[in-house]
Amino acid sequence: MPVYDPTNIFAKILRGELPCHKIYEDDKAFAFLDIMPRASGHALVLPKAAARNILDVSPDDLAYVMKVAQKIAKASVEVFGADGVTIQQFNESAGGQVVFHLHVHVIPRKAGVALKPPASVKEAPDVLADQAKQLSAALK
Ligand code: 5GP
Repeated sequence: MPVYDPTNIFAKILRGELPCHKIYEDDKAFAFLDIMPRASGHALVLPKAAARNILDVSPDDLAYVMKVAQKIAKASVEVFGADGVTIQQFNESAGGQVVFHLHVHVIPRKAGVALKPPASVKEAPDVLADQAKQLSAALK
């Protein structure tokens, strides 16, 4: 399997070299909104530790990221009035992964509304900023 490449786009976001709409941060995990959401409020949760995906992450970091994903799922239901939440996590190109720093997708769902195709529509920055503000507040 390939090794972790620290030049990936999410590593740059974690280092503060690229901007994001942050919703949560602690010493082990970081979460922000997807710029091309498959549904409104689509968030990504990452371990701060360098890990390409489920195949090289430590079990503790993986478990911790899922704990944070649960917090964000609950906040999404509260903030967006979601009827459900889809959790996705892809590994290697063959598994659908595009960005090679482990991340868990937390996607709030409304009954009867299909997911948009991956990376199909870029969300307006002001919409992301408003959603990030609401989610951050709910996570405090
Ligand atoms: P995956 O690697 O799990 O297939 O998905 C990568 C996700 O990252 C996609 O949902 C895509 O929309 C999102 N994405 C790609 N580039 C950026 C970016 O620069 N910023 C943010 N916030 N999300 C991104």
